[in-house]
Amino acid sequence: MIGFLKIPIIVEENRKIIHVDMDAFFASVEEREHPQYKKKCLIVAPDPRKNNHHGVVTTANYNARKYGAHSAMPAQQAIELIPKEKLVIVPPHFDLYKSTSEYIHNIFGEVTDTYQSVALDEAYLDVTKNKLNESNIIKVANYIQQRIVKETHLTCSVGISYNKFLAKMASDYRKPFGRTIILGAYAEDFLKPIPIEKFNGIGKTTQKRLHNMDIYTGQDLQNLEQDTFIDTFGKMGYVMYKRVHGIDDSPVESQRVRKSVGRERTYNRNIVYSADVLQELKKLAKMVSTDLSKQRQHGKTVVLKLRDSDFETVTKRMTFQDYVQNEDQIYQIASDIYTKLNIKDKKIRLLGITVTNLDPLSYEEVRLNLFSNEDKYE
Ligand SMILES: [Mg+2]
Repeated sequence: MIGFLKIPIIVEENRKIIHVDMDAFFASVEEREHPQYKKKCLIVAPDPRKNNHHGVVTTANYNARKYGAHSAMPAQQAIELIPKEKLVIVPPHFDLYKSTSEYIHNIFGEVTDTYQSVALDEAYLDVTKNKLNESNIIKVANYIQQRIVKETHLTCSVGISYNKFLAKMASDYRKPFGRTIILGAYAEDFLKPIPIEKFNGIGKTTQKRLHNMDIYTGQDLQNLEQDTFIDTFGKMGYVMYKRVHGIDDSPVESQRVRKSVGRERTYNRNIVYSADVLQELKKLAKMVSTDLSKQRQHGKTVVLKLRDSDFETVTKRMTFQDYVQNEDQIYQIASDIYTKLNIKDKKIRLLGITVTNLDPLSYEEVRLNLFSNEDKYE
């Protein structure tokens, strides 16, 4: 296998990441609405007795879990595990879960703009910088937990660490209403006893292959050579290798919709020749195009901004019927605007290109990028 550099085990610990996971979310919302369910074994699923034995459990409360019921299990199987007098089965009320989820996400937004929701009941927050101006990540996590409990009467578990993978592993470690912290020095030790089934991202197929290799725990994984990971699982093996050693560089990607994407540069020396202006526009177009594709956006308007040596600033925009995203298109439009401005004699000290009127790329247009934001190995 070629093309991969051996990575040294240097753990990047500068970020502060919290993973918030609501406890038995759908079931807890139902219990909140109907407190009489609390003592029961509650299954949130379409009733299989009314649906020809069909239906899957979306959530089981903790009482039901004691009997072995769990989410993604056939509802029929779940109700057979639970004594009749204890069983309550209710159909999911997604609108209610969604509005509750939105409320919780608004709390996240009051803590940081950099949060990434993974599901209605789960999100990553990058609180390295946060709106509470609190440098102690444990206090930030505590604040979130307390506010959610007070305002929604629901509990969540939080995982605290310096990357997404570990934060997720941590929130899963103690539930419900858990709070688990993994510091850099302890990351590898934390992962050692954990069964591979509990590793976020290792799915059923990979589990089987690992079991065939006699690998059952985090420690077994840590004992594997990097080459073995890559030879066996390809590029995903490399990601896996890093994670079992506590390394995960993937950013928390906030879904906040950006209204525009732009880049500008101020030059120490004025640009005198128009050929040089065009050269710079080419560079800016490339950066903007890269930013757009990272954010999976494209836009219909291109804005050119220029400031001359007299500090006079001009912005000029062009809007199109079709979306613009690639660097050649952006450059072509920006240079057109520049040419039409007819200011060749001006000395330029600032240039900027912005694309606005943005919309998300549709699924088919998204170029697959194996090494960014993968949450699963398979
Ligand atoms: Mg959950």
